[in-house]
Amino acid sequence: MERSYANAAYTLAAQHFVLNATKKVDCMEKLFSIAVFIVMPAGIKRIPIRSPHEPQMVFQPVHKEAPPGSRLPAETYEGRINCHNEGVMKIIKPSVQFYGTVPTEYNAALKFIEMAGRTCYKSEDKITEDSAEGFVKKLIKAGHLAMVEHSNFVVRIELTDKQYLSVIIAQVGKYLNIAGSDTAVLYVGGSITAWYNALQFVLSIPGVEKDVRMFEPFASAYINLFGGGYIAKNDWQVCPHDEIPKELHRYAAKFICDRGVSHELVRHRPCSFAQESTRYVNYGGKDMEFIEPDGFEGWNVDAKEIFEGSCDFASGAYNNLLHYGELKPQQARAVLPNALKTEIVVTTDAAEWAHIRKLRTAKSAHPDMQRVMNMMPWEEFL
Ligand SMILES: Cc1cc2nc3c(=O)[nH]c(=O)nc-3n(C[C@H](O)[C@H](O)[C@H](O)COP(=O)(O)OP(=O)(O)OC[C@H]3O[C@@H](n4cnc5c(N)ncnc54)[C@H](O)[C@@H]3O)c2cc1C
Repeated sequence: MERSYANAAYTLAAQHFVLNATKKVDCMEKLFSIAVFIVMPAGIKRIPIRSPHEPQMVFQPVHKEAPPGSRLPAETYEGRINCHNEGVMKIIKPSVQFYGTVPTEYNAALKFIEMAGRTCYKSEDKITEDSAEGFVKKLIKAGHLAMVEHSNFVVRIELTDKQYLSVIIAQVGKYLNIAGSDTAVLYVGGSITAWYNALQFVLSIPGVEKDVRMFEPFASAYINLFGGGYIAKNDWQVCPHDEIPKELHRYAAKFICDRGVSHELVRHRPCSFAQESTRYVNYGGKDMEFIEPDGFEGWNVDAKEIFEGSCDFASGAYNNLLHYGELKPQQARAVLPNALKTEIVVTTDAAEWAHIRKLRTAKSAHPDMQRVMNMMPWEEFL
């Protein structure tokens, strides 16, 4: 839905209210603007103030006259400023893309990491048949190892040497997991990042004779991405995808939601995340998307108008901060609301997904969170 109609007078009153609420103004003036804000909706006559391709925002300046050095157009101080934005404000519905188990074969694994990593920069158009390895190496070099967590690597260990079990358990650390320890076969799994960090930790312990057999299959497959340090391969094998115990699989989904919901998602600590960045993505001059809140169709006409108007205003303010304010996207983002559309890839194991499902589909969860959680195909994997 594109916003093409608004009520200029009401929007002006609303902005006046919002701006005055944050300013030190005379008490009577504040009361007046609150009264206008409350009374105006009753008398709204809807008039088109711009076409979708001629964005414009109503703006109540803080000062009565342009401060020295201002580049803002003179009409700004008459209460109107043109928005420097070729794009339009759009309100879209949230959605979920479920990927199933994270691939474990080398090439597929790197492609998956690239997909997750490029979500941050919205540079998916740069993905080619052979771009993944170089992209992942760049991530690692930049220390952006969190993106490499969108992976899974599982080793199948034949426990002929029972005494070695305690060594393995001691080395597993915080982010690797074990399955099948009651038999002679043990599975150890976790993301590539988890394997690398555990290996680094074991190697860093001073004065201890190192036994790094557990890490050899991982090092053979992936250590070159981290700049080398080859460890000879032992008899323990990489576990084929089909043989990975259910509890060691990692499952991923991409949520297209607002930034309120994404902020709640990132509270789930055992997960790995890759989120569209408002630092690195420049929304200037482009369409800007906002997420339609749950139950929006049922909102009264004024609530819809205020919501759409505030998204439009935020989009205009962002573009003008870039244009007139000469700010960077990471600075201009301060005026963007919770409703801004974001994309976030979430990867974790089945146990944590079950925990998330329980908390976030409950009636006490935020309706917008419940809505995306109810789009997950839970029965397919839990
Ligand atoms: C209805 C609702 C309302 C909420 N309201 C608020 C609020 O007002 N303010 C607010 O700040 N948050 C709020 N939250 C977020 C909440 O506090 C949790 O941060 C979020 O739900 C993550 O869940 P969790 O901590 O159970 O588990 P996760 O982070 O998903 O971790 C899963 C489990 O792993 C274990 N675990 C993970 N990390 C640790 C650790 N460091 N130490 C020990 N055990 C660990 C715990 O057993 C945990 O249950 C709310 C959540 C819900 C569902």
